[in-house]
Amino acid sequence: MATIRFKALGELLKREAIPVVFPSNKVTDYYGDLVFNAESMRKYLSKDAFRAVTTANKKGLSVDPKMADNIAAGMKAWSMEKGATHYTHWFQPLTDGTAEKHDGFIDYGDGGHIIENFSGKLLAQQEPDASSFPSGGIRQTFEARGYTAWDVSSPAFIVGTTLCIPTIFIAYTGEALDYKAPLLKALTAVDEAAVGVCQYFDKNVTKVHTNLGWEQEYFLIDEALYQARPDLVLTGRTLMGHSSSKDQQLDDHYFGSIPDRVTAFMMELEVECHKLGIPAKTRHNEVAPSQFELAPIYEEANLANDHNQLLMDVMKRVARRHKFHVLFHEKPFAGINGSGKHNNWSLGTDTGVVLLAPGKNPKANIQFLTFVVNTLMAVFKNQDLLRASILTASNSHRLGANEAPPSIISVFLGDEVSRMLDRIVEEVGERKMTPDEKTALKLGIGRIPEIILDNTDRNRTSPFAFTGNRFEFRAVGSSVNNAAAMTALSASVAVELKEFKIAVDTLIEQDIKKDEAIFQVLKKMIIECKAIRFNGDGYSQEWVEEAKKRGLSNIMSVPESLSQYLAPTSKKSLVGTGVMTEVELEARVEVELEKFTKKIQIEARVLGDLAINHIVPTAVAYQTKLIQNVQGLKNLFSNSEYEELSSARLELIKEISGHISSIKAKVKAMIEARKACNVLEEGIEMAKAYDEKVRPYLDDIRQHIDKLELVVDNEMWPLPKYRELLFNN
Ligand code: ADP
Ligand code: MG
Repeated sequence: MATIRFKALGELLKREAIPVVFPSNKVTDYYGDLVFNAESMRKYLSKDAFRAVTTANKKGLSVDPKMADNIAAGMKAWSMEKGATHYTHWFQPLTDGTAEKHDGFIDYGDGGHIIENFSGKLLAQQEPDASSFPSGGIRQTFEARGYTAWDVSSPAFIVGTTLCIPTIFIAYTGEALDYKAPLLKALTAVDEAAVGVCQYFDKNVTKVHTNLGWEQEYFLIDEALYQARPDLVLTGRTLMGHSSSKDQQLDDHYFGSIPDRVTAFMMELEVECHKLGIPAKTRHNEVAPSQFELAPIYEEANLANDHNQLLMDVMKRVARRHKFHVLFHEKPFAGINGSGKHNNWSLGTDTGVVLLAPGKNPKANIQFLTFVVNTLMAVFKNQDLLRASILTASNSHRLGANEAPPSIISVFLGDEVSRMLDRIVEEVGERKMTPDEKTALKLGIGRIPEIILDNTDRNRTSPFAFTGNRFEFRAVGSSVNNAAAMTALSASVAVELKEFKIAVDTLIEQDIKKDEAIFQVLKKMIIECKAIRFNGDGYSQEWVEEAKKRGLSNIMSVPESLSQYLAPTSKKSLVGTGVMTEVELEARVEVELEKFTKKIQIEARVLGDLAINHIVPTAVAYQTKLIQNVQGLKNLFSNSEYEELSSARLELIKEISGHISSIKAKVKAMIEARKACNVLEEGIEMAKAYDEKVRPYLDDIRQHIDKLELVVDNEMWPLPKYRELLFNN
């Protein structure tokens, strides 16, 4: 009987090539076709309604409710012309992925006949039955109501036949139950704090927005093979599988030519992205076989993040049409590179300046250095918060492995910017600077741009690297919602900028000139956060030791790291800035801990099942074949000949027996460990127990299975092997 594996391989061979379809139009002809953007709004809204939306957007306010009906009518007309029949409030609960509940436009009119209806009230707010979304104890089922509220700053769009309205999701009692609401608050906090600081340099700045350019890494696996791997289907990663003899050793995949089958997928994906206003720009092969990346042009952070969430959804759909399955898991395959989602982050003003890019003159560059130093300080003080914002069960496999930074948070600045900071420390004295000294320092600082533009040195081993006009937060996982990381970072930077301004203003009040006050405060900060700066190899063992000497934290345990959300510094950043209330923060930690526990629990169950009902029976069947063979030899040959001929086979029989016994014993022990964990109090205690008592069995059991894979008859092995999963494009 053919195993599921061979059936899947057969499917794969029958695949007809899906041709690469080149769009017949220019991208500018269809870009944003499915977005209710400024152009569509102008056409479908009254002048007043259009103004209401744009003003609300500019000022970060909600839309005047009087205008909501007109806007809803415009949205309905526009979307129906594009074939929409339904609408949904699209939101980002604390699960992986987005949520939507579709309602038809269909309704009874006044005369009892059927009409299409979409009112301002339906646009502005809705009450989905929210009892099944994680709330971290905020919402008891008996008061399950939560509501979604329109986020005016992110335009509505159409997927299929549904008009999607980006919304925040909050409990009836007002607490945020999603990733978007805190992000919006954090972006406002950093805006306010940054504008205050910008005022030292340019009085015209009235708004500072956050830019985010994410790079999404992913794997593409043939659908048939994927379906034949229950571990991939249920956990997103392979819980077993011996490494392929060839994988990424030759570096022949990275930036290699993209296979036609994948190109066909990517072309279709890009067209869909562009219609949805997602500015997809870059595509390439990544390091591991079957691993790829897509990166758009950066956008305002909230919109960029919506686009990333939407992309992940669109990607899964398009992949299906191409008989692929896309894996967003951070480490779907052991032994080869995993996937991340680098967050390129910067701040920009409404006067068109990118604050993390060097400017054209000394003044602009002092501003640039001010923002760099404040970011450094924010990262230094909030190492534990930033780590907590990115560490999940799946991302923990990737961090500290050979392709991703360790769980030590440090910042790479590059030689030139480092030198500028050192120079400020050396040249700014305790006493007042002479005009000559000041001029010399400013002139030196004025030279940054040419130097940096010529030397955009890169360090791919740093979790937080300066790359010329932005920082790249590289530790973010490929499967997550970026908002968690962006919220933590924005709130931390907001706190720092506020403190910076207070310190500078205090000196100015003491009759110290503005420039010098800024230099003095910067100097103090640069000295204080020196430990966070590291330009060397972040993957090396020496760095782990060096970081320890410097007093940087290095928390490997996910539950431990998540509990740092509640440390005083983290609270200062998140609660102190009004981004979250204490209750919201505690609830969030509960949710993240629960997700961790459940993911380990599911992995343990899946592995236990597969080990017992796929692997052990296969090993036993093969062993039986060997035993029959040995018995045959005994009948055919004389005793002395038999002994010589059978010894290797007898060894193999014993080896297989050993693995079978170990697997059975360990699966049993793992089940017992789970039972012991399940009676503990939910939350940190249970998460830690799962991490320490259950998780180690996953690797342990896998080792025996992977050894069996090497010795058991290839024809009998039930699950697609790494070499098949990874080399099928
Ligand atoms: P890399 O060489 O790091 O792989 P990519 O081209 O893949 O670079 O992605 C870089 C991302 O950074 C893109 O999304 C790009 O638009 C974004 N980016 C560029 N400049 C900025 C900036 N100032 N602020 C935020 N993001 C930026
Ligand atoms: Mg890239």
